[in-house]
Amino acid sequence: MDISAIKKRYENMPIDELVTFLATYNKDDFMPEVQQVIEEVLLERQDEIDSYKQQEPNEDIESGGDPSSDSGLISRKIKCKDCDYQGLVEAYDTQDYPKKQIFKLLGKDNQGYIYLRCPNCRTDISYSPFELIKFK
Ligand SMILES: [Zn+2]
Repeated sequence: MDISAIKKRYENMPIDELVTFLATYNKDDFMPEVQQVIEEVLLERQDEIDSYKQQEPNEDIESGGDPSSDSGLISRKIKCKDCDYQGLVEAYDTQDYPKKQIFKLLGKDNQGYIYLRCPNCRTDISYSPFELIKFK
């Protein structure tokens, strides 16, 4: 395994992709060597991540405006397959948002499917990585 190539990949990842990756990052999905590389890169890019987060407009979240508008946290927006409720994928920076808008992250399986719980109808839903990309 070429660790330096993996490291490069995360070092060169666009910041929005990296933040989205972080939102679903689960250490246990990676081998310890890879984990270490990812965490090194995350540390190196911490400032970038922080300033990206500050740039994210989130007025529509705080004011309870139209969550379907195409601004702000688009890449992490998610819609429940059951009740069509729209919210955000839980991440390290979503503690500040109203709980009722956060789809709790339950985990990821070995095919890359992500499991989330709808805050509205409490249904557990699985999303393929492709479906998450669609919400960009
Ligand atoms: Zn729902």
